[in-house]
Amino acid sequence: MILHAYSREQAVLEAKRCIQCRRPWCVEACPITQDCREYIRLIAAEDFDGAARVTLRDDPMASSLCKVCYRYCEDACVVGKKGVPVAIRHLKRAAMEYGRSDLAYVASRPTQERVAVVGGGPAGLMAAWELGVRGYSVTVYEREPEVGGLVRTIPAYRMTDDDLRLDLARFRDLDVRFVRSHRVGAEPKVDQLLHDGYAAVVLALGTPDHRTLGIPGEGLPGVLPALGFLRDVHEGRPVSLGKEIVVIGGGDVAMDSVRTALRSAPGASVSLVYRRDRKEMPADAEEVREAEDERVRFLFLKAPVELVGREHVEGLVVRSVELGPPDAGGRRSPVPIVGSETTIPCDTVLVAVGQRTDLDGFPADLDLKVTSQGWPEGKGPQHATSHPRVFAIGGKSVVYAMGAAKEAVDELDRRLREHRHEAPAPRPDPFGGDTPFHLPAGYTKPIRS
Ligand SMILES: Cc1cc2nc3c(=O)[nH]c(=O)nc-3n(C[C@H](O)[C@H](O)[C@H](O)COP(=O)(O)OP(=O)(O)OC[C@H]3O[C@@H](n4cnc5c(N)ncnc54)[C@H](O)[C@@H]3O)c2cc1C
Ligand code: SF4
Ligand code: SF4
Repeated sequence: MILHAYSREQAVLEAKRCIQCRRPWCVEACPITQDCREYIRLIAAEDFDGAARVTLRDDPMASSLCKVCYRYCEDACVVGKKGVPVAIRHLKRAAMEYGRSDLAYVASRPTQERVAVVGGGPAGLMAAWELGVRGYSVTVYEREPEVGGLVRTIPAYRMTDDDLRLDLARFRDLDVRFVRSHRVGAEPKVDQLLHDGYAAVVLALGTPDHRTLGIPGEGLPGVLPALGFLRDVHEGRPVSLGKEIVVIGGGDVAMDSVRTALRSAPGASVSLVYRRDRKEMPADAEEVREAEDERVRFLFLKAPVELVGREHVEGLVVRSVELGPPDAGGRRSPVPIVGSETTIPCDTVLVAVGQRTDLDGFPADLDLKVTSQGWPEGKGPQHATSHPRVFAIGGKSVVYAMGAAKEAVDELDRRLREHRHEAPAPRPDPFGGDTPFHLPAGYTKPIRS
């Protein structure tokens, strides 16, 4: 979604719509337990500096999240039951833009222990922050030249690298070191990191690679993985698109692809082919509406069969499908209609059918579970693997990945403290204040969607 910022006055008016629920449903629905009720209260009182500080106390990626978070809090907001929910994410952006947000995090007393984080996406960055403010010395190994993970494929009309840079600048006084262009797995191996003096390892490998369709013709010139296309546009590298572009997929990456294709190839026709119907699309409903407004042509209930062309892609053969009974996950499975094949003429195809992880060189005995959306995570409590000092995390969105990191570091810190004969303790105030992390008044239990 393209977010237009509130003015100060609009933000204060919007914040006043919040009824300051005794039970903070919005906080319970936030995977990082962001105390949004409190920052909204401060904005209503015109204290934007206070609101920025409260926001950053729980959310080290607030400059990015205030633009791209999928707003799980707003789905739970009670004001939304009878009307429009409070615009909690827009208010986070107002806190960051009108309040003092160029703060620096402060580490608590050094623990003298080192922890390696593998992967510098949202999960790895959150783990590094959680560990850094608790006084650990953290090294983040990132295989790409820059950290950020999939956030670095989000198109610039939604967020830019400057937002990520603002977030990372607040880490400057923590003992967090980034080792870029350095893949962990085959060399060095996880075991080696533990032998080299790291007390623990957090694997935050995410899904850096794209999935393929597995149909004939996928190797033809003009057929491109959507992830690579979005990354190129994001990095400012030239992209070569034709005049008849087809995007295959129904998730958020497909939606970013159609909209980025429209912007990268003015005048081109852009169609989206999806094998289920609109109701079943996993993409954010607002993104779908906005893509329709931008005149993307949606072709539902079409399954790709083959890509055809001589020296370059010239067409996508699709078969019509109808939706059968729900599968184990509750979604209706597409059933092909025999003899219904048609060819959609095209000169560019962007394949957006999901991402996958790269576990090459990681030992099988860590007993990782690869989720249906592709990232590996520990099967044990709070994402622990079979090794007591190795955790594995990831998530379906930026804030879910960060939430997993928070849970894992809570448990990892508890285990390392036990080893040091120290009592468990909550995360200290990340700005060096006296009040450690605590759940806001009235909080009962997490709401997860
Ligand atoms: C186009 C696109 C748009 C999206 N839009 C949104 C959005 O608007 N809002 C939202 O909330 N979410 C969005 N998402 C999803 C979100 O980006 C992911 O859920 C999130 O990035 C997952 O974080 P992660 O840290 O688990 O994994 P990743 O972001 O995949 O990060 C993993 C990192 O680990 C690194 N790595 C992997 N293996 C190794 C290794 N062996 N050694 C060293 N480094 C390694 C990778 O290079 C990568 O930097 C979008 C995703 C895409 C692709
Ligand atoms: S991080 Fe996302 S879910 Fe949490 S309060 Fe902010 S907008 Fe809501
Ligand atoms: S649930 Fe909605 S109304 Fe209640 S505190 Fe949160 S933002 Fe305010």
